[in-house]
Amino acid sequence: MSERKRAVFFDRDGVILMAIVMDGRPRPARSIAEYKALSGIMPGAKEAVEKVKAAGFLAFLISNQPDIAYGVISKAEWQWIQDQTKDIPFDDIFICFHRRDDNCDCMKPKPGKLLEAAEKWNVDLARSFLVGDTKDDVAAAKNAGCKSVLLDAPYNREIESDMKIQSLIELLGTLREF
Ligand SMILES: [Mg+2]
Ligand SMILES: [Zn+2]
Repeated sequence: MSERKRAVFFDRDGVILMAIVMDGRPRPARSIAEYKALSGIMPGAKEAVEKVKAAGFLAFLISNQPDIAYGVISKAEWQWIQDQTKDIPFDDIFICFHRRDDNCDCMKPKPGKLLEAAEKWNVDLARSFLVGDTKDDVAAAKNAGCKSVLLDAPYNREIESDMKIQSLIELLGTLREF
């Protein structure tokens, strides 16, 4: 068996794509028009993924995307928004499309998609990181046995995590220190 690899898992909304904050809570854009007006690629997102890959980590997108199932966005508009991440060189993408009341085992904070990625790519979770912006990201990291990195946002300052970063530019330096 080949040596297990380290990985960085990136949440999508609030980490790779700008979250839309409504009533103090982050959510993804629910239409192409809303994406164009209020969202976009997060500063430093592509560079952060490129840098962690150059440093030897695998890079994965790991996201809960229940809005199609909730009927708040069409599949086509959702796919257009997802396609905005295409220039970012993730090794793989793991998305839970379930609704919260489906009680699946892959919606963060459950670790299902992290475990699936680890199995598929031979990842050493104990030496890997999840970069997120909510308590469910931090909890998913803990439930999968990897380290949590919280990207600072006005809505997450009370959340405890293994590491905190102010911007994605700092990410690789912070991982090296850990
Ligand atoms: Mg998020
Ligand atoms: Zn799921």
